[in-house]
Amino acid sequence: MSAVLKDRVEELPTGPGVYLFKSRSGRVLYVGKAQNLRARVRSYVSGGDGRIRIPHLLERATQVDAVVTPNVKAALLLENELIKQHKPPFNVKLRDDKQYLGLRLDPREEWPRLTQVRRFQRDGAWYFGPFTSSVALHESVSRLRRIFPLRSCSRAVFRDYQRRGRPCIEHEMKRCLAPCCGRVDEATYAGLVEGTALFLRGRSDELLDDLRRRMREAGEAECFEEAARLRDRIQAVERTTERQEIVGERPVDRDVFGLARRGGEIEVQVLHVRSGRVVGSRSYGFSDVRLDDGEVMSSFLGQYYGDEPDLQIPPEVLTPVRVEDDGALAALVGERAGRRVALRKPRRGAGAELLRMATANAELSLSRRLDARESLEAALAELAQVLGLPDPPRRIEGYDVSTLHGSLSVASRVVFQDGQPAKAEYRRYKIREAAPDDDYACLREVMVRRLARVASEPLPGLLMVDGGRGQLGVVSAALRDAGLECPAIALAKERDDESPSLRVKRSGGLKAERVFMPARKDPLMLPPSSRALLLLQRIRDESHRFAVEFQRGLRSRQNLTSILEELPGIGPTKRRALLRSLGSLRAVRAASQAELEAVPGLSGRDALALRRFFDAIERDGPRETEFPD
Ligand code: SF4
Repeated sequence: MSAVLKDRVEELPTGPGVYLFKSRSGRVLYVGKAQNLRARVRSYVSGGDGRIRIPHLLERATQVDAVVTPNVKAALLLENELIKQHKPPFNVKLRDDKQYLGLRLDPREEWPRLTQVRRFQRDGAWYFGPFTSSVALHESVSRLRRIFPLRSCSRAVFRDYQRRGRPCIEHEMKRCLAPCCGRVDEATYAGLVEGTALFLRGRSDELLDDLRRRMREAGEAECFEEAARLRDRIQAVERTTERQEIVGERPVDRDVFGLARRGGEIEVQVLHVRSGRVVGSRSYGFSDVRLDDGEVMSSFLGQYYGDEPDLQIPPEVLTPVRVEDDGALAALVGERAGRRVALRKPRRGAGAELLRMATANAELSLSRRLDARESLEAALAELAQVLGLPDPPRRIEGYDVSTLHGSLSVASRVVFQDGQPAKAEYRRYKIREAAPDDDYACLREVMVRRLARVASEPLPGLLMVDGGRGQLGVVSAALRDAGLECPAIALAKERDDESPSLRVKRSGGLKAERVFMPARKDPLMLPPSSRALLLLQRIRDESHRFAVEFQRGLRSRQNLTSILEELPGIGPTKRRALLRSLGSLRAVRAASQAELEAVPGLSGRDALALRRFFDAIERDGPRETEFPD
């Protein structure tokens, strides 16, 4: 430890604030907050603080700076800001992608509907969640729509069916009462909206009381059909709530945190308990953590609740360890929530039971994460061995070209870092120059564009393309032309006409996969259980999914102008010619291939591409519902 550091400690103020340990080069290594800055930092450097990180941190720190704040609460806020800004290696950092999967229902809307959201806002709408996963969310919505059939369509689709005077298939499937065609009155619909909200808030007792009352009233008024509908709804709610476990003796709202640790690997689990029922949970994994548990929790909670005004903060937060400066943290979280929030570590009773449950879940998530990491490491090592690479490919880029009936080509790049998808690095390519029906030319265009960025984006440990020897040849040629070297492979499913001797039949008769490598004549056939192959398949499937999703997005845009703009080969001049000759966008879409060909300036190829494209749109149609069942 540097002598400068020791001297500096005695100059620090004794009030609350934030301190920053820095390296010789000025890099911020660790940010902390304290009630008494001098005492806290002194405890670090004098060895009085037995926390796990001390030796490591002090080996590298050569200076310490401090920022005085009026109180600890302000120090907490500043600490969060500085962690976000500097990303210090010794702090626990909650990733910026902390997003909720939630549902939004705006009762002020005309014919309100549920929409999926990733942020909760103070905009007067009702928000529900968070949901554990998108699967859990879709399950809830699908269940809900059978009980409370609110519309699911967008405003544009609603108007479209309103104009047509008939409801969409959702009505036929009994998942919407068709307000678009006046088949439900406002009061009934408002009842569904209320019921949906009560159900999603976990207030099923209140909801059931209300439904039973309405069923009685309907029976008394001899509206038997309505009474029967309400009876079915009551049964559906009862069946669903039976499946939700009640935890705790009181119907309270709480967030319960569990923590599991193996050395520097930490998992924090949060259970969202609403009205006494666990409605969601999520776990957060951290590696190479050198803080003690109390500080991990303090830093985690500060970031978790401190990010933004959050409507989801419950009145009670249970933590598995005593959190430093818990009073200040509770005040800060309370400020965000707009009411008092208690931060507790109960030792007995239902609260302690919940903490045990959260901790058991954290243990489970941690084991799963470590097991998965081990098997990913094994997969990368196997990949290096079978492909003859000097090291396991830490970064793998997977490419896929997707063409819509030869008319609209797009491509995708996915990146897997250490065997895991690095979604922030995914890219989508609209093919600009290559003919859309020329798969090789499209791939070549994508590779040329990728390789041109090599200065800002270094080449990966492995390039993989969906396809066979031909596609691999395109990638190898692009690398050669750019004067670059990078291991590249192509992955293709075995063809039906392949020699039976090459075929490795799996149970269920699944096709084997062939891995093409530049220097090998015959493709490599890895056994289906090979970890390396499973990883390659995952990358290929992910790049395919990503490309197709992009293409669907383009296709489903209803604005014809933007569609025309996206068609390769149809520039402003041809677009103008189309509109001038045929009169309107609708007419362009309805025109036959011969009529399109007759437009001055349009080639037969352009006309064919346009016709194929519009046929595909006609066939697949725009997406009408938000939640596929
Ligand atoms: S979901 Fe279908 S039936 Fe319901 S309002 Fe929308 S268009 Fe009409």
